[in-house]
Amino acid sequence: MEVLLTNDDGVRAEGLHVMAEVLKPLGRVVVCSPDRERSACGHSMTLRDPLRAVPVQGFPVDVEAYEVNGVPVDCVNLALHEFFPNGCDLVVSGINAGPNLGWDVTYSGTVGGALEGAVNGIRSIAVSVAVFVEEAPPNLETARLWLEEYLPWLLTAPQPKHTIFNVNIPSIAYPEIRGTRITRMGTRIYKERVEKREDPFGRPYWWQGGVVIMDSSEKGTDVEAVNEGFVSVTPVRLDWTVHELLPELQRSLEGK
Ligand code: MN
Repeated sequence: MEVLLTNDDGVRAEGLHVMAEVLKPLGRVVVCSPDRERSACGHSMTLRDPLRAVPVQGFPVDVEAYEVNGVPVDCVNLALHEFFPNGCDLVVSGINAGPNLGWDVTYSGTVGGALEGAVNGIRSIAVSVAVFVEEAPPNLETARLWLEEYLPWLLTAPQPKHTIFNVNIPSIAYPEIRGTRITRMGTRIYKERVEKREDPFGRPYWWQGGVVIMDSSEKGTDVEAVNEGFVSVTPVRLDWTVHELLPELQRSLEGK
């Protein structure tokens, strides 16, 4: 099996190393990841700058590994062109240190990397550990154990072309995981999203972050599942069209 692994936390992130270890028994694994953290780059790509791929010195897992001066989408496209000229069987993005739940997936570089695999018609999976405490280390051991048990299923579960699985694993001890749920995207609402500060020269600057208000009252969502200690698997598609609105919008256009 030919596997392309990327992430958005950069090539030195421990989550990437754990994912490489989990994937290694599947066959040929090539890691192609940003040379530094590029979280929240979404599905962006680099157009105006050249991309370089450099072999990673001292990558802790015995697989081919390259660092790229770009974002996850760049890594996937460069790797498919250069290292998998005949295509590959699987694209994995992660393991991200932090949740990618609800509408946050539109910001997520982890999900962006997996979506680029889907653009190329390849089975693709984004994996995140849902650690909510800032600076707290993600429980990667739980992620490893869950993946070892569920990877065969992830490789064979129905996944139509141009869709991905967005997997979020609670950052708790493995025995505390209550199970695995198939979910839909929930909502993630931020308050105090932008903070205004002042630099040492008295000039204002703004820093985005904010406090998340997670709405877990909605049943069947990724947010609810992770809050309740379940691993969440959400099928996500590239097609953002609001299909159910098409007839009504058409009628509205004709009657204007
Ligand atoms: Mn990240």
